[in-house]
Amino acid sequence: MESEKDTKAKLYSRYPSSSVLIYNGSTILHFLLGGTGIALGYNFSPWSGYPLGVLYFVLSLVEMYVVMPLTVCPNCVYYGAKDSLCVSGLNILSKKIAKEGDLKDFPRRAEGLFCPNNLYLASLIVPILAMIPALIVNFSVVLLLILLAVVGLLLFRFFIIFPRIACLHCRAKYECPQAGAMGVRNR
Ligand code: SF4
Repeated sequence: MESEKDTKAKLYSRYPSSSVLIYNGSTILHFLLGGTGIALGYNFSPWSGYPLGVLYFVLSLVEMYVVMPLTVCPNCVYYGAKDSLCVSGLNILSKKIAKEGDLKDFPRRAEGLFCPNNLYLASLIVPILAMIPALIVNFSVVLLLILLAVVGLLLFRFFIIFPRIACLHCRAKYECPQAGAMGVRNR
């Protein structure tokens, strides 16, 4: 008979390359499609469509690959763990650009209106919210397909990546508010 420990998910000190690839691939695809959708949806003026699409894409990349490693990762267990690789790979980048923080500050990633967690969520949801009115005033099949693809990527992240690939196997899941919200701490 399996003990409770045996039935629990394995915690990774180093995530498999496939997990890192899926996580970052879906993130960058989400930002790229989101930026493209905004650019196409608002292309009725040369000053709105492409500048807004590019602005969204750049800000999302900065939020994910600059703000997170500067503010969240230094307080994460993966920052200090030798030879570790978290699911985003950002612990490696963080070590190069930020000083080590304090593990007990890790939950602060979810505190306050403009906390890193909310900015991260905003970077995923903003293109969806922007494309819906654009579809009404500037409908095209391509824009509709991009919207569906971005919604699909969001659902894939929430129902597959977080609970099955990322948070389930994360060594930070006992401190991380997102893991608490995903209900993976006792799995
Ligand atoms: S539990 Fe999930 S959100 Fe939290 S640090 Fe780990 S992978 Fe990231």
